[in-house]
Amino acid sequence: MEIEKKLEFLGKAAQYDLCGEACSPMVHRLKDDLGRWLYPAVLPDGKRVVLLKVLLTNACVNDCLYCANRAGRDCPRMAFTPEELASTFDALWRRGLVKGLFLSSAVDAKPDDVMARMVAVAEIIRRRYGFPGYIHLKVIPGASKAAVEALARWATRISVNLEAPSPEALKRIAPAKNFTENLFAPIAWIKELVEEGKVLLPAGQTTQFMVGPGGEKDRELLRLAQSLYRDFGLRRVYYSAFQPIPDTPFEDHPPTPAWRENRLYQADFLIRRYGFTVEELPFDSEGNLSREGDPKLLWALKHPEFFPVEINTADYYQLLRVPGIGPRSARRIISARRKGNINCLEDLKRLGIVTKRAAPFITLKGKKPTFQMSLI
Ligand code: SF4
Repeated sequence: MEIEKKLEFLGKAAQYDLCGEACSPMVHRLKDDLGRWLYPAVLPDGKRVVLLKVLLTNACVNDCLYCANRAGRDCPRMAFTPEELASTFDALWRRGLVKGLFLSSAVDAKPDDVMARMVAVAEIIRRRYGFPGYIHLKVIPGASKAAVEALARWATRISVNLEAPSPEALKRIAPAKNFTENLFAPIAWIKELVEEGKVLLPAGQTTQFMVGPGGEKDRELLRLAQSLYRDFGLRRVYYSAFQPIPDTPFEDHPPTPAWRENRLYQADFLIRRYGFTVEELPFDSEGNLSREGDPKLLWALKHPEFFPVEINTADYYQLLRVPGIGPRSARRIISARRKGNINCLEDLKRLGIVTKRAAPFITLKGKKPTFQMSLI
């Protein structure tokens, strides 16, 4: 089969894996003149690049209920050889069309055998073609620790898709996968390998949840995310709103609304960057985040005892609790205060603060500024 056809087909098949904040199925993909599927992405260091995002194969022995590649689904199946994929990547890189690789795979053989082919791709790209840049490799569920270590040696970033926050939720969407042995164990191994200095992984490890069809609650997802950040050193947790795929058991399952994914990212950001704990977040009686307002604003409205915050004396973490003030603007406020008082909303606006959101929750030299309330 022609390489171009494989590239187009297996590039399209990789769209459900998230590899960076701007690298999701929602983001417009680039197509070059040969019809290849290339994805804009944001690397961990903030650089915007184009990645070749592709599956090694879409043939799979597993039957996860939501997946386009599940065994028995009627669709064309194809696979790259490691040589084919490595030389294709090299050609794209030398033409300046891509700056990195995101490689995942369905499971057409024993997990370690699939991983060995992924290792071969990365090894050829690094050793033979001398590519020094970003390579994100996906761990195949059920792989051994030795196979994970071999994969991690060539990767800039590695990831294991947990898909669900508990064994029960995983059973509902991927009955053949064992949450603890197939998915959680590799996350712990990767942490150990990094701590023991056996692998470098400069961009660390990440994971991804499929949001919706497992019946999980937002609180469960965020509790596990918090533990993954705190106890396992994960760099990012990605949340993928479920979209039904024709000719799968979940084809009639309602799609997960985009606002739920958005709220999860907002809450995740509060945990990672703002010093919030999951238990502080405003969940409803079912354990889900509200559609009506962002979690930080709803927390602020529920905690009048914390406000108003005096902008001229509050510490960094007090400032971060104010709606409209983020890490960068909190640092700007602290820096500006060294030169004198912040006297009015105009001063705050100049520092990048969203004053219509912050105003109800602050004082400036002891006085409450006038404001109009916003729930956006
Ligand atoms: S193992 Fe991966 S590719 Fe195979 S059916 Fe499950 S999610 Fe799809």
